[in-house]
Amino acid sequence: MHAEIIAVGSELLTPDRSDTNSLFLTARLNALGIEVTRKSIVGDNLAAIQDTFRAALERVELVVASGGLGPTEDDLTRDAVAELLGLRLVRNEEIIRAIQARFQSFGRTMAENNVRQAMVPEGATILANPRGTAPGLWIESKQRIVVLLPGPPRELKSMFEAEVEPLLARRAPELRLYHRDLRVAGLPESDLDQRIAPIYKTYSDVETTLLASPGEIEVHFRIWSADSAEANRRLDELERHIALSLGEYIVSTSGESMEQVVGRLLTEHRATIATAESCTAGLVAERLTRVAGSSAYFLGGVVCYSNEMKTAFAGVPAKMIETHGAVSAEVARALAEGIRRRTGAALGIGVTGVAGPGGGTPAKPVGTVHIALSAKGNTVARGLMFPGDRERVRWQASQSALDMVRRHFLGASESRGGAVRAGIGAATKRRSSKV
Ligand code: ATP
Ligand code: MG
Repeated sequence: MHAEIIAVGSELLTPDRSDTNSLFLTARLNALGIEVTRKSIVGDNLAAIQDTFRAALERVELVVASGGLGPTEDDLTRDAVAELLGLRLVRNEEIIRAIQARFQSFGRTMAENNVRQAMVPEGATILANPRGTAPGLWIESKQRIVVLLPGPPRELKSMFEAEVEPLLARRAPELRLYHRDLRVAGLPESDLDQRIAPIYKTYSDVETTLLASPGEIEVHFRIWSADSAEANRRLDELERHIALSLGEYIVSTSGESMEQVVGRLLTEHRATIATAESCTAGLVAERLTRVAGSSAYFLGGVVCYSNEMKTAFAGVPAKMIETHGAVSAEVARALAEGIRRRTGAALGIGVTGVAGPGGGTPAKPVGTVHIALSAKGNTVARGLMFPGDRERVRWQASQSALDMVRRHFLGASESRGGAVRAGIGAATKRRSSKV
């Protein structure tokens, strides 16, 4: 079955509000085996609402809409749909009583305009709204189903789960959507696609989508199937082939974020970690602590923006900063080693770079970042060059720092070809005499 979603509300056409209801609805409809083929957003205008519904009903059997069911003049969905379908609006006394009871429970009396919410297209099924006054409506007409839901997300969600899902489940087809979401770090999108396209293209039943964001690419595989065992077998097989091709570039296959994966690895290895950050100013620490339970492995971190603080907080020799500059592999190493030594953590991270937009030089342009990971007797440093604005540079630096921790546990070689596409120079490993 195919469905379209319509979000009604002029506020959704402004920069202040976005339509999130359709994300929830799409996930739930997919789980019922219903594919969403189009979403529309329309303002509070009767003719526009009718146009949108008319067009949708010409294309699909199911239209799910949200918003515009309230009591005010700009809540037009009910009127628009009834008129479009040629259904009379009938006053429903049961709804009036329910709204009155709701107002009474707050010690208030019902306003006259709430009667609008009790006007029901003839033949419609009323969907109870325990969290608000506007009831939802399930309308069947000319082999089409129209479901009207209130706009407020918490009202819509509870109504969909309690009232709509059971009704849809009875008619939903056997087909279900199965998916696998992979996260990949360290490969540009084009390189990634070049590697995996020959594999996924042989799976014509699987829909593949690459979603790139700074420092990470999500690869989504989707398959519609009536046979869950077969669908999972296909996805397992595809995932195995992809894993062979990408190896340690794969961060997770079950939707785990980079910080969750790093947290899991630290926990599994009973290792602790501490950070000394300059250009990322605590972003690595912030991301590490997004994960619940991170106190088990994250000891703490320092933000050492000035040269003096690099010395004071992480023991970076002033002379070293003078000789090599604050943005250098040497200082990144000293930050990582210093914070590890001072906190007693198993691992220390040091980050220093030029986030921009100012501060770049020909030798160290904006986007230059040095990251080091210090472990017992061994410190690894990477010099990287990130494109993009300040936010993007900082984010990618944090991503690379976390990825170094991840790879540390995988035992993947840092200097492996292609691992550091954005690299200025080859990654270096050296024994440190300081630790
Ligand atoms: P009410 O009885 O609250 O007026 P309603 O069905 O008329 O319900 P709207 O007036 O259209 O709903 O929207 C109420 C609020 O719900 C909006 O201010 C907005 O915050 C939220 N909302 C509406 N539509 C959406 C949507 N598609 N996604 C997310 N939030 C929404
Ligand atoms: Mg409203």
